[in-house]
Amino acid sequence: MKIRLIDLPRQNALLKKSLMQVFEREIASGKFILSERLEKFEKTFAEFCGKKYAIGLNSGTDALRLALLAYGVGPGDEVITAANSYFSTAMVISDIGATPVLVDIDPATSTIDVSKVEKSMTTKTKAIIPVHLYGQPADMDPILMLARRYNLIIIEDACQAHGSEYKGTRVPVSETGAFSFYPGKNLGAFGDGGALVTDNKHVAEKLLFLRNDGAKMKYYHDMIGMKSRLDSLQAAVLLVKLPYLKSWNKKRRVIAKLYNSLLGDIPGIQIPQEAKGGYHVYHLYVIECDRRNALQLYLKRRGIETVIHYPVPIHLQKAFRNKDYKRGAFPVTEYKAKKILSLPMFPEMTEREILFVAKTVKRFMERSV
Ligand SMILES: *Cc1c(COP(=O)(O)O)cnc(C)c1O
Repeated sequence: MKIRLIDLPRQNALLKKSLMQVFEREIASGKFILSERLEKFEKTFAEFCGKKYAIGLNSGTDALRLALLAYGVGPGDEVITAANSYFSTAMVISDIGATPVLVDIDPATSTIDVSKVEKSMTTKTKAIIPVHLYGQPADMDPILMLARRYNLIIIEDACQAHGSEYKGTRVPVSETGAFSFYPGKNLGAFGDGGALVTDNKHVAEKLLFLRNDGAKMKYYHDMIGMKSRLDSLQAAVLLVKLPYLKSWNKKRRVIAKLYNSLLGDIPGIQIPQEAKGGYHVYHLYVIECDRRNALQLYLKRRGIETVIHYPVPIHLQKAFRNKDYKRGAFPVTEYKAKKILSLPMFPEMTEREILFVAKTVKRFMERSV
C-alpha cells in the first residue's frame, strides 16, 4: 500500500466534473485578473469566516505581509510570534523591516505559550501574530486581553486553520486573519494563493491597493504597492471546493479520532492533544516519538509518507543566523522538532489506510523495544 501525506489527486478525481466545467467557463470568459469570479470567492470566503471582507492574494505569506503593512507595522517595531511555525510567519516580519520576537510553544497544544507572551513584550512591541498551528486555534483570550491592555495589533496566522474554531467562533476571532490556499492546505488552490479576512474597513481598502501595484483603479497609482492578486482561475477552483470544506474538516476529525484510538495506547507514542474550547481541523495529525527518525524511515519503507513540521525551528534557521537567537532559547520548540512526525491526513483517507498506518507504527514500536 502506498499512502501519501496528502492525496490531492484523489480529491481532484472526485471533483473532476465540476472542476472541468469551471475551467471551460473560465477559458471562455478570458478574464483572468481581478474578475467577478474573484469577487464572488472573496464574498463567499468572508461569509464562511464570519468576517466583512476577504481580499484574495497570491499567498498566505503575502496575506501576513500586507496585513502588517496595512496596520502600519514597520522598522523599529517588534512583532511577537510563535517559535514553531512555517518560516514565513517570522520571515515577513523581518521582510517589512520589523523585528520578529519569538515565543516558545505550549508543550500540550504546540501553539504559542500564552504565559510567556507578556514577558517577551517591550515598549517596541506593536503586534502579535498567533499561529493556529496544525489546525488548532491558539489560546486567544489571554492574547486578546494583552492586546487590549497594551494596545497591540493582532493578526492571526490561520494558514493551517480554515474552519477552525475557538470557543465556538470561527477563526480569526480577532478582527483580522491570514489564510493560505497552498495546495495541501485544508482549502487548497491549484498553485499559490491566499487571502486576508478582516472586519476592518480601512485595512481591507488598503489591501486592494497594496495587492495591485498601489492602484485600485487601473493605471492610477496612489501608493507603492506590490503585485499580489489571487488569480481568477484559482478563485474558481476555490469556489468549487469551499462548499465541501466543513464536511472535509469533519472527516479529518473522524480520522484523528480513529488514529487516537489506535495509537493512544502504544508506549512511546504521544498522540496530539486538543486544547479545551477549540475546534481542531487537523490540517496535520502530529504524533511524537523518541525514535522519530527511525520510525519515519520504517514507515517510508512500507509506503507511508510522513513529514516533519518543522525540522528546524525558526530561530535556528540559517536565514536568521545574524540574529541574537541562541540554541536552547526555546526548549519546547527544540525538543519537539526532534520528536514530531506528521502522519498521512486527508479527508478521503480510507479506514483501511488509517488502520495500516496505525498497525505499521505499532509494529515498529513493538519490534524496537
Ligand atoms: C502555509 C503557511 C503559511 C504561508 O502560506 P503560503 O500560502 O505558503 O505563503 C504561513 N503560515 C503558516 C502557519 C502556514 O502553514
